[in-house]
Amino acid sequence: MNEITSILESIPVDPLTGAIAVPIYQTSTYVQEAPNVNKGFDYTRTNNPTRNILEEIIAKLEGGKYGLAFSSGLAAIDCVVKLLNAGDEVLAVDDIYGGAYRLFTTVYNRFGINIKFVDTTDPENVQNAISPKTKLIWLESPTNPLLKVSDIRKISEIAKANNIIVCVDNTFATPISQKPLNLGADIVLHSATKYLGGHTDVLAGLTVTNSDELGEELKYIQNATGGVLAPFDSWLIIRSLATLKLRVEKHSANALKVAEFLEERPEIKDLYYPGLKNHPDFSVASKQQSLPGGIVSFSLNEDTEENAVRFVTSTKLFKLAESLGGAKSLLCHPPSMTHKSIPRENRLEAGISDSLIRLSVGLEDADDLINDIKQALSKIINKNETVEVN
Ligand SMILES: *Cc1c(COP(=O)(O)O)cnc(C)c1O
Repeated sequence: MNEITSILESIPVDPLTGAIAVPIYQTSTYVQEAPNVNKGFDYTRTNNPTRNILEEIIAKLEGGKYGLAFSSGLAAIDCVVKLLNAGDEVLAVDDIYGGAYRLFTTVYNRFGINIKFVDTTDPENVQNAISPKTKLIWLESPTNPLLKVSDIRKISEIAKANNIIVCVDNTFATPISQKPLNLGADIVLHSATKYLGGHTDVLAGLTVTNSDELGEELKYIQNATGGVLAPFDSWLIIRSLATLKLRVEKHSANALKVAEFLEERPEIKDLYYPGLKNHPDFSVASKQQSLPGGIVSFSLNEDTEENAVRFVTSTKLFKLAESLGGAKSLLCHPPSMTHKSIPRENRLEAGISDSLIRLSVGLEDADDLINDIKQALSKIINKNETVEVN
């Protein structure tokens, strides 16, 4: 049976009314018959029926046992990092999400948790960077914005041999395309603000693990620190999950068409899309992902910030905005937007050039999106001779 169908079928219909949609239990507390004699609920920070259903669905969808829902992706990251102690070290993918970079380098450093960045596309770099202090390996695959892919299975094997926890931020791939727990990771994490929410109208974060020990610890920290997802926002994510497979398939098909179009254009310098054969990580991506995803990044041959700004202010369907993964196509200029907290020198070193543009390809018709890109390309400075491609 279709995986999402069978997961949604496993959620019991509301026993009180038979409501077909999951009810929103908009309550902070629950009446008790006597102290600690209740129906399994005492306070919404600890448990809420609507949030619990979302946590159960995401656990099943990621092939895990314990799911948790948070008020944002960063709140989920915060919960995972709080598994660590002062003096511990994190090894992280060098092309890490900008908000996670900021959190690790300006907040956790003050608590004695240090981070080392590694090019994780080669598992050997991970092996070589491990020290006795390393307690957590932080992967994103594909990454934001360069779509680098890391071999989750190989890195998880290295981690296991060294007693290190592996957490994979699966926001870009989604569980429809990639299931990190099945590849050996210990924790999988989402900014559900992106594809899982899918309609650019809610912030949410999720974690899933298979380990009884990690499941219990994460639940304890979630309740102790309190960054839980509200009942209504939990309901929005539940509602969106029914269409997740359809959406991710369409995002991927559209993005592949856009990438193939850009591949032929003379205005483009570098093109990043793991569904193209000349992407450096194409073979790992094809092994661990069933779909290449909806994000395409590229730089311009006239590689300046001004030129990128010309492009991002010329598109009509692609709206200039942070975030990604929604029905509506968005684009952004990471150097001046999502990655502005990374110093230019470090950014260039990481391969994020001044004109880098990231597309979040939406659910519109691919032809309309390509026409929009075509007209925006006619507005920019092009160092090469333009060849009309039909
Ligand atoms: C957006 C994002 C986050 C942070 O999630 P929020 O919901 O914005 O807090 C983390 N990781 C990745 C890959 C993201 O794209």
